[in-house]
Amino acid sequence: MENLPKSLRIGANDYAVNSVSGLASGQGNWGEIDYGNTAISLEESLSESKTLDTLIHEMTHGILFEAGFDDHTEEQANRIAKVLASTLRDNDFGFMRKESKSCE
Ligand SMILES: [Zn+2]
Repeated sequence: MENLPKSLRIGANDYAVNSVSGLASGQGNWGEIDYGNTAISLEESLSESKTLDTLIHEMTHGILFEAGFDDHTEEQANRIAKVLASTLRDNDFGFMRKESKSCE
């Protein structure tokens, strides 16, 4: 996917975002997150919408981990990620950034 970010900052850590082949073979994993190496891997053969859903899913694991929920469940990540993906997609979060206020 062309507009995939190179990294995502989750809490105080920058997680590299990598597109890899062969992740989906075997267990059917479309993505994975490595907390120690702060890296997210996404299967490169996924469609654009599946890639974005998977990225947000892995990011949600990262948010839970960085918040101290080291042994959160897959169901928790799934449920939060579904709401988070639509919230991020359907709103413009530009108001969160200070650089949009100039000359003040
Ligand atoms: Zn998961």
